Amino acid sequence: STFEGDHSGDLQPRQTPGVFYSKAIPTPVKQPELLAWSDELAAELGISAPNEQDISILGGNLVTPTMYPYANCYAGHQFGNWAGQLGDGRAITLGEWTSAAKGSFELQLKGAGPTPYSRRGDGRAVLRSSIREYLMSEAMHHLGVPTTRALALVATGDQVLRDMFYDGRTAYEPGAVVMRSAPSFLRFGSFEMLAARQETAQLQKLTDWTIEKFYPHITGEHKTITWFKEVMDRTAALIVEWLRVGFVHGVMNTDNMSVLGLTIDYGPYSFLDDYDPGFTPNTTDLPGRRYAFGRQHTVAYWNLGCLASAIAPLFENTEELSAALEDFKIIYLEKYYAMMGKKLGLDEVQEDDHQLIDDLEETLDRIKPDMTIFFQLLISLPAAPQNAESIMQHFSPSFYREPDTASLEKLSHMLQTYQNRFGKNKITEDAAKSMMKLNNPRFILRNYLLHQAIQEMEKGESTLFNNLEEAMKTPYSADHDEFFKLRPEWAATQPGSSTL
Ligand code: AMP
Ligand code: MG
Ligand code: MG
Repeated sequence: STFEGDHSGDLQPRQTPGVFYSKAIPTPVKQPELLAWSDELAAELGISAPNEQDISILGGNLVTPTMYPYANCYAGHQFGNWAGQLGDGRAITLGEWTSAAKGSFELQLKGAGPTPYSRRGDGRAVLRSSIREYLMSEAMHHLGVPTTRALALVATGDQVLRDMFYDGRTAYEPGAVVMRSAPSFLRFGSFEMLAARQETAQLQKLTDWTIEKFYPHITGEHKTITWFKEVMDRTAALIVEWLRVGFVHGVMNTDNMSVLGLTIDYGPYSFLDDYDPGFTPNTTDLPGRRYAFGRQHTVAYWNLGCLASAIAPLFENTEELSAALEDFKIIYLEKYYAMMGKKLGLDEVQEDDHQLIDDLEETLDRIKPDMTIFFQLLISLPAAPQNAESIMQHFSPSFYREPDTASLEKLSHMLQTYQNRFGKNKITEDAAKSMMKLNNPRFILRNYLLHQAIQEMEKGESTLFNNLEEAMKTPYSADHDEFFKLRPEWAATQPGSSTL
């Protein structure tokens, strides 16, 4: 390997200065049982359906001679504070798989036991969080959002001790392992670690390697700054995609930020039901709401600042780097308005349209309708301008509570402006409506549905899990309208989800 590694196989938690990864053999489990397998991803990678021996591998019970299992060392800023060395505390990469069509992919087990980076953790994952990672990473893929993928979900037959009630009380939960996959799991924190340890030669090596392997189109003298700008661009694009579908990541620490611009680390995430920019599904993010839905672009900028600081030692003159970072807002806003234009079915987004989009956002924030249902109803809004009463009627399936008169007036005023603007499109109405259908999901993997599927799975019942897995494959269609409804009342106070 190109990088300094620790090959001792010692799994004791410890600091590993000078080392970029450590050999870490998975710890065997009692009884691996395959619960789910992503046929699409397997087909893309050219991997055949798993036999009994493969299931042993997926559970961490078998390592073949062609594998070199290791855990990555990285650092990060957590909730705005420098956290020092973190690393793969419960993820072990078995190796790389090369598919002729798609290039090379890391295959990684999450929950396969302790590594030198487990600190006080047990290196395990519970079925609950594993179902969440498996389903949501595949759901995001089918929504067209850049993401790591999940190939398999395996129950371990072991019990794992967890704090389930957010108050220190613990209980046993069934354990599981997810095999996930990405071209790379490199994070902003991978670079921060080398910078913090002043291992500048390794930092240079990592940066050059990252560019050569994952950004091969970038060459020449100024490649590091060009690369940073592209990471910025991809990060801005990713956040805009999250906003398009109403996704809140929940724990955007710099160790959870991919340098490839992928959604990485599915923990306390959630989709929005009611539109609320302040919504944070992460109970450990209260009351601060640092990682709330509407703050994700600001956090991305802050995190890119950490990455810029980390790679600063590679620059003779860092002014260029600071200047690049300051362009984030412009880059983000341009992508944001372009995306909203597509959600609204506009042929192009002109300066004037920004006001309309801002008004829409403000109105949604006041009324807090179900985001997904609201945009679906926008697609079917009759072309002729509507009075407040018929607006109310048309959008009422998206309302969690009846809007006050002033908000309803605001909505109908905003919609009038919208309909005027829509009428000036240079594309046909059909083309505009198709664009809207392609950019507004009709099925999202709502938190309460996941919650129900998990409860069933813990009892060995997989009907809902299977239905959700089917529905999420065609999220822009009406194929699974049994799920096209408001979140039920009982789920309104559902606690988010623990990262564990
Ligand atoms: P996360 O909040 O999921 O990004 O995790 C933050 C850090 O905690 C990472 O270094 C993880 O590897 C580590 N971690 C989380 N859960 C566990 C666990 N059960 N055992 C060991 N390490 C863990
Ligand atoms: Mg993480
Ligand atoms: Mg996590």
